Amino acid sequence: MEILGPRGTRDILPEESYLWQKVETILHQVAQQYGFSEVRLPVFEHTELFERGVGDTTDIVQKEMYTFTDRGQRSITLRPEGTAPSVRSFIEHKFYNKAQPTKWYYMGPMFRYDRPQAGRFRQFHQFGVEAFGTSDPDIDAEVIAILVRIVKTMGISQFQLHLNSVGCPDCRPLYRERLIQYLTPFESDLCADCIQRFHKNPLRILDCKSPKCQLAVKGHPVLSDYLCDRCGQHFEQVKSTLNLYGIDYELDPQLVRGLDYYTKTAFELLLPDLGAQAAIGGGGRYDGLIEECGGPPTPGIGFAIGLERLLSAAQKQNSKAWQAKSYSPIDVFVVAAEDEFIPDACVMLEGIRNSGIKADKDYLNRSLKAQMKFAGKTGARWVVVIGEEEKTSGYYILRDMKLHEQHQIPADQIVDEIKSIMVKPEEEQYAE
Ligand code: AMP
Repeated sequence: MEILGPRGTRDILPEESYLWQKVETILHQVAQQYGFSEVRLPVFEHTELFERGVGDTTDIVQKEMYTFTDRGQRSITLRPEGTAPSVRSFIEHKFYNKAQPTKWYYMGPMFRYDRPQAGRFRQFHQFGVEAFGTSDPDIDAEVIAILVRIVKTMGISQFQLHLNSVGCPDCRPLYRERLIQYLTPFESDLCADCIQRFHKNPLRILDCKSPKCQLAVKGHPVLSDYLCDRCGQHFEQVKSTLNLYGIDYELDPQLVRGLDYYTKTAFELLLPDLGAQAAIGGGGRYDGLIEECGGPPTPGIGFAIGLERLLSAAQKQNSKAWQAKSYSPIDVFVVAAEDEFIPDACVMLEGIRNSGIKADKDYLNRSLKAQMKFAGKTGARWVVVIGEEEKTSGYYILRDMKLHEQHQIPADQIVDEIKSIMVKPEEEQYAE
């Protein structure tokens, strides 16, 4: 019986994985331009970390975690997100004792038991950044600038940045109270989830996607009217630094994170053309989270972006740079016209590879004609042919499959000839 991959997972095959490598290169480069360093953390953690770090009233913790008991009777969860593990690691390795801020980024698979649909998977990938140890509003703007730079570098030009401030434990309780007062007449009209979170996490009702809840919150009091002076000033500074960076944003009073450890800045990047799954990434400040997870009071801010959605947006908006079909695993295919020239082909092949060029040869004892046909299938730009005449003269045939022309070149000049025509990967342009 054939065994298929589990529901909600997908295989990233070679014709696509090279695009992922291009995305990953951009992510490493952009994060490092902003002084962030990579952390590589385990894909599973103690369940309690997510209960505390993500929040036990969230959908992630209540419905979506891959939790199991391991052979040592510990409750283990496949990570559904990267912030809580980053915070755990920051505390465990006592990074709070070092000079601050600590600027980290991560990328890798995340796991959520969600209903799979277009753009939503059970194993998906996120890239995220976390800046610990400073409450300077300029770092909020910097983190947002990274998100914007990533999408722009990929050639995504149509997007909206939504921005809000969710206040802090000083100013939010009053707002919470007002919101509960406002929503009380609509309580029974809300969706089942929101009825449940009505008293525990009422702010989340604001960003609930259910039409019933959207109707109920119309005309709701706005949090920015309730911000304390500190939060108000912080928000102004974030906005003015974003203006300095030339980053456009839309204020969105419904953009919230309901839990106490989320503070001040919240943001989300939306794409008009991704349909139901419009959010490509989002984040915010979480000045209470590190303490919640057992560390000393330390401010923090970060975001996460979904790589499946990032790539599919790039493919829609900048299809020339991101289409999968232009992929070829090799640049050069070396053909031995007869078996006796296979050793010469091997020497040529290794010589080409030594110079950093991707090359291959036949391994199925194909005829000359079949080798040429196979070389065409690999998508190699060049074919080197070595036969009786070439061996004797020392001039090998170099065929350019793209221009459909061929020349005889001294064997020791083949590599230089290819190099002079080749586009180096670093010269490739992603953005249009
Ligand atoms: P979140 O951690 O829920 O704020 O999600 C951040 C980003 O991760 C989203 O905007 C998506 O791009 C991506 N994402 C979250 N959940 C999924 C999923 N189940 N499948 C694919 N991408 C996801």
